[in-house]
Amino acid sequence: MATRIDGKAMAATISARITEETSALKQQHGLVPGLAVVIVGEDAASQVYVRNKQRTAEACGFHSVKHALPATVGEDELLELIDSLNGDAAIHGILVQLPLPGHIDETRITQSILPSKDVDGFHYVNIGKLTAGATRDAFVPCTPAGCMLMIEEQLGKDLSGKTAVVIGRSNIVGKPMAALLLAANATVTICHSRTPDLAAVARGADVLVAAVGRPHMVGGDWVKPGAVVIDVGINRIEIEDGGEKRAKLTGDVDYDAAMEVAAAVTPVPGGVGPMTITMLMSNTLRAARLQHGIDA
Ligand code: NAD
Repeated sequence: MATRIDGKAMAATISARITEETSALKQQHGLVPGLAVVIVGEDAASQVYVRNKQRTAEACGFHSVKHALPATVGEDELLELIDSLNGDAAIHGILVQLPLPGHIDETRITQSILPSKDVDGFHYVNIGKLTAGATRDAFVPCTPAGCMLMIEEQLGKDLSGKTAVVIGRSNIVGKPMAALLLAANATVTICHSRTPDLAAVARGADVLVAAVGRPHMVGGDWVKPGAVVIDVGINRIEIEDGGEKRAKLTGDVDYDAAMEVAAAVTPVPGGVGPMTITMLMSNTLRAARLQHGIDA
């Protein structure tokens, strides 16, 4: 039976360290990291994510600000808000919760955030640094950054000689994940909806990352014996529970089947999700330090 990678416990340990460092930063430099979260509209899942991010920011001792705008807000008004946050000295990190309503150009919005405050790592400057292998200089997108720490915990920092397969090529997860694995010297394959015989490719992976959004797509027979399996997917499915139907969160990996074959697997929930939020805090703390010339 494989090891269950406990993302919740790992995130709690890192958050405790961030809280200590935040307190030291306040005492030694009078500096409080500030995170602004912008949410547009009423999407239920986004509301939950934003609430969790704010709660964690407050628990870490950050100055936390939420801007909730109606779904009808104009793109110019949103850009004005970001402009004012870019110029606000108390705010070191800005996050605009995606997805945005269809009439707003997401790229225009994410590219309007100053790269130095882009704690989500979506600005082209940060993407460029990551792709160029300058990972120490970049703000790395939070989900792949969290995945990488979990992989490092299992296999160490150097993945020389290991094959890694990433299923999914989004800008938020798949591509930056592949860049991080490459920077760690893994031999990386990116798969997507047009990849033939995905199962055969996946079976060659020492590190398998699933970031698709299809419940239980990765079965046990897709997993190489002894692999490390990271399940990024968050899918809401309906299950029968005591004769009643209820909603349940599940990943892209058939967890029970993968646990029979792999060396280590992340659960959903309790795996990648909590680590994503903690990486946002880590990026915000780092942004505050960098903006004040304090060694990060
Ligand atoms: P996305 O929809 O932008 O990208 C999905 C990718 O999967 C695409 O690149 C597509 O080519 C690929 N794909 C789709 N169908 C496929 C198939 N049949 N075979 C192979 N590849 C296929 O999604 P995303 O933003 O990258 O998110 C992926 C999943 O991860 C979603 O379930 C999302 O909710 C979840 N997610 C979780 C976290 C977290 O913190 N845990 C963060 C971000 C995203």
